[in-house]
Amino acid sequence: MAAKVPPHAVLVDGHALPKPVAGHPALEFCNTWAGWGEPEAPGAEWLVDYDRFVLWAEFTGLVPASAAARLRGRAEDAVLARARALRVALYRILRHRDLGALDVLAAEADEANRHTRLTATTETVHFELVDDGNPLLPLRSVALSAVDLLSGPQRNTVRACPGDGCGWLFLDPRGRRVWCSMASCGNRAKVRAHAARNP
Ligand SMILES: [Zn+2]
Repeated sequence: MAAKVPPHAVLVDGHALPKPVAGHPALEFCNTWAGWGEPEAPGAEWLVDYDRFVLWAEFTGLVPASAAARLRGRAEDAVLARARALRVALYRILRHRDLGALDVLAAEADEANRHTRLTATTETVHFELVDDGNPLLPLRSVALSAVDLLSGPQRNTVRACPGDGCGWLFLDPRGRRVWCSMASCGNRAKVRAHAARNP
């Protein structure tokens, strides 16, 4: 029998990853941790090792499958630690507008920018990360994605889910969305409200 996958997860290559709900990869990156601002609960960490980080980055479209295939299965704890530190900093900037966390992002973005090259298609010319086989590739891609989000108007539409043990971020351009997902946090709140009305 297949393992039961909770409504806020998706099974990728046999591993549960957080379901994409955010509308931007940099926000999806923050959503690889659950229960922001609360004591750590079991299952809070989705990026349990470097391999999972690579799998997540490929699934999110931040690294190509060819690069991910070369990086999967490696033990790169130092890179994973930097990714987690960047995630905390990014969440502080996005949710709390805490510019004291900018140094961490700046350092990773600088590192990433040193490994880009100008690439042309028939439509556009843009900077692209070079796949040099370095295990930092997914981290570089996350850092540039974060800069992309923070440097545009979308950053003003970032909202956090108020669900217990959640705090996931998502874009809410119309100002109408409350929950990361109706199927998980929204439903839990509905059940609680129903129980309160019908004790
Ligand atoms: Zn939620």
